[in-house]
Amino acid sequence: RPQKPDDVVDMIKQNDIGIVDLRFTDLPGLWQHFSVTLPEITHGLFSDGIGFDGSSIRGFQEIHESDMLLKPDPATAFIDPEREAATLAIICDVVDPVQHGAYSRDPRYVARKAEAYLKASGVADTCYFGPELEFFIFDSIRFEQNQHCGYYFVESAEGEWTSGRNEGAFGGGNLGYKSRYKEGYFPVPPHDTLQDIRSEIVFALMNAGIQVEIHHHEVATAGQNEIDMRFASLLRMADNVMIYKYMCKNVARRHGKVATFMPKPLFGDNASGMHCHQSLWNGDKNLFFDPNGYALTSELCRWYIGGLLKHAPALMAFCAPTTNSYKRLVPGYEAPVNLAMSQRNRSAAARIPMYSDSPNARRVEFRCPDPSANPYLAFAAMLMAGLDGIENHTPPGDPLDKNIYDLPPEEARKVQQVPGSLDESLQALERDHGFLLKGDVFTRDLIETWIDYKRTHEIDPVRLRPHPWEFQLYFDI
Ligand code: GLN
Ligand code: MG
Ligand code: MG
Ligand code: MG
Repeated sequence: RPQKPDDVVDMIKQNDIGIVDLRFTDLPGLWQHFSVTLPEITHGLFSDGIGFDGSSIRGFQEIHESDMLLKPDPATAFIDPEREAATLAIICDVVDPVQHGAYSRDPRYVARKAEAYLKASGVADTCYFGPELEFFIFDSIRFEQNQHCGYYFVESAEGEWTSGRNEGAFGGGNLGYKSRYKEGYFPVPPHDTLQDIRSEIVFALMNAGIQVEIHHHEVATAGQNEIDMRFASLLRMADNVMIYKYMCKNVARRHGKVATFMPKPLFGDNASGMHCHQSLWNGDKNLFFDPNGYALTSELCRWYIGGLLKHAPALMAFCAPTTNSYKRLVPGYEAPVNLAMSQRNRSAAARIPMYSDSPNARRVEFRCPDPSANPYLAFAAMLMAGLDGIENHTPPGDPLDKNIYDLPPEEARKVQQVPGSLDESLQALERDHGFLLKGDVFTRDLIETWIDYKRTHEIDPVRLRPHPWEFQLYFDI
């Protein structure tokens, strides 16, 4: 990958680039863009930035103070294989021309500040993140409107219609190789019809400078996928997640299909998570390793986990930030429901993977996040929770190495649960956000804007609409 503006200019020349596409992330976490031509890039774009109207960007400025600047980060430039015209894509920081500095609601700035806060704390110099994004690829989605509610149908890559349930998943088509219920994981093709699309996504990511380790079909009956990138530092990985989603959506689209990171598109089948592996390092020393600790973890690692678990309800406002996220967090689908630590156990919110006993492999896997999260905000929030745990020596509680789903009710009741709704998570964030304000990483304005945005644009519109299932229950009452 390039480092300096000159490297980007070289890349443009060598690849006959005609268009430079500038990208940045809105507050909920969707990439936005506009394109410039070559003269612009050589004339001060890197030093001065280029203006755009921030008033129609979700969660950004009011209309009367809407002039904003974008400044490209040379280290993020890549040739975009999904565009027909020769295009170089580059991720930008948002600058507020009035304040003469980084814009406080730019999610990327929050991630930058979290990394700076970590360094300043003296605890470690780097936080590595390895998110495992899961997603569905469907053949199509059809919305049917009536005057009261919209209803949706999705068709999976294996060619079956479902209406948010998968009873439909067993009939017709597909030359006899139907994925059996929850057996999408992981017979070879022709059961798995998405192998080649995933490989194409992997090549696109590698060409964009992202290291990829594995890809596979996931557990849901049909059409659920996972592609795992090699771990990287916080900001770099958040950028990578944006590129990842872009490639998944665009490659699927080119094949006449549609990729979605909506956590729970199908009732009664597995949902998509974004488990986040994380560890703190000084140089090449992994601070989470101790050969004598529980599951080979250091005390520092367990305090970090203590911070994640203590602040989990508030963290979920950023890590599981949609109304749909909470349809994932129910028992029976390998998604965490209980806020506890464990080695091996996939029913715990914080797992310590035991695949390897190497010092470098020691890390915590926080399983609550899902891919509807804005990665800049979610990663920054998790790091801040972990650092708060370290600062306060927060214990993670007793490990739960049994299957938590199978605990007797008296014992199960003692284990704290994840919030049951986005509304609960936002209330937890209202009560508990001091750990995010440290070092000005999250500002009060950003937290208030987030809560207000989520309530008015997501919770209320969902809550106020008659649900399709209410017609099933009540229409004939
Ligand atoms: N899909 C599951 C989740 O929602 C995870 C499945 C797995 O990777 N074991 O978290
Ligand atoms: Mg995985
Ligand atoms: Mg998985
Ligand atoms: Mg995992």
